Amino acid sequence: MAYAYDDQNIFAKILRGEIPNTTVLETDHTLAFRDIHPQAPDHILVIPKGRYVSHDHFALEATEAEVLDFMRVTGRICAELGVQPGLGGQGFRIISNAGVHGVQEVPHYHLHILAGRPLGRMLAPA
Ligand code: 5GP
Repeated sequence: MAYAYDDQNIFAKILRGEIPNTTVLETDHTLAFRDIHPQAPDHILVIPKGRYVSHDHFALEATEAEVLDFMRVTGRICAELGVQPGLGGQGFRIISNAGVHGVQEVPHYHLHILAGRPLGRMLAPA
């Protein structure tokens, strides 16, 4: 069974240049930009340029070049923010919401990188 991808999702529109964004970093395969409703002083979304719905889709079907590029971009953003805990930074959190239980709003794969304040425990009690 093939993954269904909605070309009208908001991140597809951003990738086509139909909606503006505040770009942090762009490579051949990946775009990183600031979240429109930041939940921390630094709240950056990292998306592949390819048509992937969620983490599982990207992890299973993206090319090695896409996966490597995507991962390197996350590292470069952490470096640019100066938040790497192994280098004296204050740390960060990476989240990827998927599907209904994951409460994914935009059906184009993305990671949230959150940093700039203490972020509390990972999950609030249900
Ligand atoms: P999700 O719940 O799918 O993991 O998160 C989607 C994120 O996209 C939300 O944090 C939301 O604020 C952000 N977002 C939604 N629409 C836009 C937009 O048009 N521009 C930007 N920069 N972020 C958006």
